[in-house]
Amino acid sequence: MSVLIVGSTALDSIKTPGADKPRLLGGSASHAAVAASFFAPVRLVGVVGEDFPRRYLALYRRRGIDLAGLQIVPGKTFHWAGEYEVNMNNRRTLKTELGVFESFTPVLPPAWRDTPFVLLANIAPGLQHHVLDQMRRPAFVVADTMDLWLNIALPELLKLLRRVDGFVLNESEARQLTGEDNLIRAAQKIHRLGPKTVIVKKGEHGAILSALGGLFISPAYPLSRVVDPTGAGDSFVGAMMGYLSAAKGPVQAHLRRAMIYGTVVASYCCEGFGLQTTTRLTRAAIEKRARALEKLTAF
Ligand code: AMP
Repeated sequence: MSVLIVGSTALDSIKTPGADKPRLLGGSASHAAVAASFFAPVRLVGVVGEDFPRRYLALYRRRGIDLAGLQIVPGKTFHWAGEYEVNMNNRRTLKTELGVFESFTPVLPPAWRDTPFVLLANIAPGLQHHVLDQMRRPAFVVADTMDLWLNIALPELLKLLRRVDGFVLNESEARQLTGEDNLIRAAQKIHRLGPKTVIVKKGEHGAILSALGGLFISPAYPLSRVVDPTGAGDSFVGAMMGYLSAAKGPVQAHLRRAMIYGTVVASYCCEGFGLQTTTRLTRAAIEKRARALEKLTAF
């Protein structure tokens, strides 16, 4: 089954202590779509400007991503610039230029309205609503977000939480949203806001799932060298949704394994700039690292 992904389709300028990489292919939807494409057919909804390099469109196509929902319009592509500190955990946003996202109205091709799995990747909650408004009874909808929307669009985000099955956020966002320092209590509070499935990401310390089947914890895959963590969270949720849409039977039965695949693709994402590593991955490499993670956590 297919997964529909809406989110940012961006040009990312990334500075790390060792390198400066301008205008790489980035955006929450790009990372999520490439990650999901190793598991299931992907339908991408987004917008780019006329400055968007053709070779980036070719990258999506090489991963088999359906671009019928990607608008190419006059104007500049969304541009985000960020800088990492030496330990690579702390990131500062240097620039957010919305460009064509400022006046974006997502329009789904009619045939896409019945897509069973929907990932509302990080983008303004208003746009996430707009996509959901066009869907006909999707089987499983997951939303992602960021601190910016908690700060400037909280009412819309809270309304969105009542419409989704799953919500993915990082630990600082979970604390900000709930006012709870304890992440287990924070997850319980988020359930009361709507989503039955809550995943709290803790960066290099893994992720916690709180769902109908109870709690599950996934470690992060231990990396000895992180090149660029940009998009790791988006790759995590993209791979997870790709895996879930390809699995048979009830979604709840596959959530744990889906998280492990999310963890694996996110780890590969951190090993290169932007989408460099993930676009070159193979399903075999993903399976190999998933087995390694299984061995690392068995006792
Ligand atoms: P992550 O590292 O998982 O937090 O995701 C980083 C990605 O989020 C980058 O590729 C950015 O292009 C994208 N991004 C940054 N700011 C925003 C924003 N305000 N709205 C949507 N996407 C954003």
